[in-house]
Amino acid sequence: MGEHPVFLGHNEPVPWRGLIDRPGRCGALGGTSVTDDQTPGQTVPNEVLRDRFGRTISYLRLSVTDRCDMRCLYCMTPDVRFLPSEQVLSLEEMVRLGRTFTELGVTKIRVTGGEPLVRRDVLWLFEQLGALPRLRELVLTTNGSQLARLAGPLKAAGVRRINISLDSLRPERFGRITRTGRLERTLGGIDAALAAGFLRLKINSVVLRGYNHDEIADLARFALDRGMDISFIEEMPLGMVGSHDRAQAYYPSDAVLRDLAEHFDLIPSPETSGGPSRYYRVPGRSGRIGLISPHSHNFCASCNRVRVSAEGRLLLCLGQEHSADLRRALRANPVDDLPLKRAIIRAMAIKPAGHDFDLAVRPVILRHMNMTGG
Ligand code: SAM
Repeated sequence: MGEHPVFLGHNEPVPWRGLIDRPGRCGALGGTSVTDDQTPGQTVPNEVLRDRFGRTISYLRLSVTDRCDMRCLYCMTPDVRFLPSEQVLSLEEMVRLGRTFTELGVTKIRVTGGEPLVRRDVLWLFEQLGALPRLRELVLTTNGSQLARLAGPLKAAGVRRINISLDSLRPERFGRITRTGRLERTLGGIDAALAAGFLRLKINSVVLRGYNHDEIADLARFALDRGMDISFIEEMPLGMVGSHDRAQAYYPSDAVLRDLAEHFDLIPSPETSGGPSRYYRVPGRSGRIGLISPHSHNFCASCNRVRVSAEGRLLLCLGQEHSADLRRALRANPVDDLPLKRAIIRAMAIKPAGHDFDLAVRPVILRHMNMTGG
């Protein structure tokens, strides 16, 4: 049976064997250990994925395409080249991944991209994932451009919550930030999602000094008026983005909070949606205001997630290059999921303690967010 190497940032294969086969260190399944002595056909008990820092991994973010109908200036370059289709996992391979992760204890899958809803037949994938018996939450991140068409069918497929990216309520600004996006399409998508009756809808806004930082209160009001949550996100240094100056555009969450406090009574809330948002409640409103602060308030200690890119690379940390090639495990073993399971378990040995973004070093990570699966 072939080995499926895992990689650190410098692309050196990791000598995982010594790490993984000590019970209780990492990747341990209910106290048992997984070694490379196992042969095909052996079963792996359905338990939890745990990394070497004792963190339980219960959340998968699955990027179903690197393609997008927008070219947000903080996310990619205008002349971005997308992956050739043979390098991208098939929808069937993604269902196998989803099933395998849930058998390893993952209970929440977020489908993302690129723009996930531009992938052909993606609704079929949602239907398959939505039917996985061990999955508790199927959620989606989208720019909203296709939601007018797809909100109802997504709800029927089992999607419970949607995050919709919206950085400006002004058409010219929206066009400047997204380069190719049209505000009215995203707003129409938000209306359709509201009408479809999802459990929760959340707006995600990346705040950029000089682009939209003066719209924070307007965006918050837009979300709260519709009973939606909103999270304001600090831009992360992922990939080269041409002439866009990230250090200059950096707008810290503390400044967002200060701006919001001029317009709203903000009550810190201990609530969590299982993610990195720190939430605030506003009296009389059902929606919450969140701050995602990868620079100023690192949230790695409670990290419960991994990502799989559209080409099947298991990414252990948003801000590090540590990864494992799951496409190889999938394609070398078309009917046996055990090698895939073992590759996932082994990769737990290299999940890093955390990221440390530094805007003075550019770019920190060469992958763009559309590759990573935001
Ligand atoms: N196309 C979908 C969308 O727009 O929501 C899903 C993919 S997109 C990469 C997911 C999220 O990542 C979006 O909310 C986007 O704003 C955010 N994002 C992309 N690049 C980012 C960066 N460099 N820093 C912070 N957030 C980023």
